Amino acid sequence: MKSKAAVMEGIGKMGIRELDIPEPGEGEVLVRNHKCNICTTDWQTWAGLRKSQGRKFPWAPGHEMGSEIVAVGKGVNKELKIGDHVGFGYGFCGECYWCRRGDTSKCTGEGTSYSYNGLTGSFGMSQYMLVPSKMVYKVSLELPWEEAGYLEPLGTAIRGVRRLRVKPGENILVIGAGNLGLVNAQAARAFGGRVMVSEINEERCGIAESLGFETVNPKKADVAAWCKEKTDGRGVDGVILAVGNTAANQQALEAVGVTGRILFFAAGYPAPEIEVDPNTIHYTEIELIGTYGGDLRDWQLAADFLSRGIVKTDKLVSHQVPLDEVQHAFELAATPGNYRVSLVLWP
Ligand SMILES: [Zn+2]
Ligand SMILES: [Zn+2]
Repeated sequence: MKSKAAVMEGIGKMGIRELDIPEPGEGEVLVRNHKCNICTTDWQTWAGLRKSQGRKFPWAPGHEMGSEIVAVGKGVNKELKIGDHVGFGYGFCGECYWCRRGDTSKCTGEGTSYSYNGLTGSFGMSQYMLVPSKMVYKVSLELPWEEAGYLEPLGTAIRGVRRLRVKPGENILVIGAGNLGLVNAQAARAFGGRVMVSEINEERCGIAESLGFETVNPKKADVAAWCKEKTDGRGVDGVILAVGNTAANQQALEAVGVTGRILFFAAGYPAPEIEVDPNTIHYTEIELIGTYGGDLRDWQLAADFLSRGIVKTDKLVSHQVPLDEVQHAFELAATPGNYRVSLVLWP
């Protein structure tokens, strides 16, 4: 089967190739990718900002797809059928130390990269792709393709909220109302948190408010004082850093209350700094927590949240661009102020 696919040929250069897609083997499904959202990691790799991750070109990007199963290989569970609509988690081996502890996000196996047609990548920007069936998660037939593409970002946010141990009624501050900020905010709310959002861009504050969140703009107000006012002077129970910068780190330390937790969800390039007094950690019992990726339970919960409208992402897709204009799509994705750009893979 022939398939058109967007391929990163070099820094700043997207191209289109025609791939040969084989029949699904044991434990594999063949999917028709309808749309693929451009992740921050995708456009930052394209822009040459992620050299630390060591990707070699050509690279077949894309892991945030809304897709449909069109063929099923041998040995696949009968719960997965032709015609099912699916989103995707990460690949994992199931055999390493981390997989066996349930931390599949830390798998030391091959992960989500494959090689075929002389290319390496995740191949989500290809019209058809073969994937291990254990990577696909069923979503509602009514869920738009570009929203099914949010399964992976939402799953990573759910893992973060799990690590932050958000409990019902807790006050949670999300710093940054970008794409993942608003996904994190909705995930924290789904776990019972009362969520507030800090954001310097007024338009983004408006989008956060339209999703039902209280907002504060650090350009106009002292965020820590505002948080204390909302929490009878205590400060928030949890902070989710959905931007990676030094000012946001300091804002988090000022806004968090005694026994509060701070989640470092976002990476920043160049690496941000943080100035924290260990005695403060000792006396106030605050916790600094990291998170990266998602585990199986997070992908499944993300599929359920999206399918049932518990997390809404329709306001988070800025543009939909046809495959033939993939270079333009990446330029839009890299433009500050835009949310996700969705690549439409079929005319
Ligand atoms: Zn992603
Ligand atoms: Zn593993």
